[in-house]
Amino acid sequence: MRIVLLGPPGAGKGTQAKAMAGELKLAHISTGDLLRQNVAQATKLGLEAKDYMNKGLLVPDSLVTMMLEDRFGQADVKNGFILDGYPRTLNQAKTLDAILARRAMKIDVVFDLDSSEAVIVQRLSGRLVCRKCGALFHRTNMPPKREGVCDQCGGQLYQRDDDKEATIKKRLAVYRSEVAALLEYYRTAGILTTISADDDAAVVLKKIIQKARSIK
Ligand code: AMP
Repeated sequence: MRIVLLGPPGAGKGTQAKAMAGELKLAHISTGDLLRQNVAQATKLGLEAKDYMNKGLLVPDSLVTMMLEDRFGQADVKNGFILDGYPRTLNQAKTLDAILARRAMKIDVVFDLDSSEAVIVQRLSGRLVCRKCGALFHRTNMPPKREGVCDQCGGQLYQRDDDKEATIKKRLAVYRSEVAALLEYYRTAGILTTISADDDAAVVLKKIIQKARSIK
């Protein structure tokens, strides 16, 4: 099964994608994670992407497409995947269809996680990420057992530069201006399912898994 997960920053996309990947045995492909890895490793791609990311702007399509083509070439993708953070624009949705068509694949379902602005700001401004393994925590909603330390690998937790309040607002504005056409594209294709994401993560996950299994 091939899934696209849409939703504003803070709707819980990353958390849900990781949990879904485990439950449904699918590869989790997060363009944000892939870009952050490139930034951390100071690759050529990372150096080019870094400024856009810190400003809350989209990284140019040429860079993201190249990175994605590379990821789709890896073996684990053959059993299905969850795309998280891509596509973000209509142009990217069309590029994705073209990349998949060349590999005789297509998207089966698009989940749109729908969330209110107040919930988004509360979630993002408290979000903590492990520097080492990428695990996600939240200062109040999902605190680590030891402050500043990852429960899973003992790595150091940090707040992403783009999770500061001013950048959150910028990222939300970018998201809203781009997503309408994207939703319409997938609605017209008949593969869009909207899920309310203001509930607890476990409740949201249950709804998604139920729907995914009904499609399989
Ligand atoms: P995310 O972790 O999905 O919130 O992404 C973090 C940042 O990475 C975004 O604010 C963008 O700067 C960049 N990024 C991630 N995915 C994409 C994409 N599909 N197209 C362009 N830029 C992206």
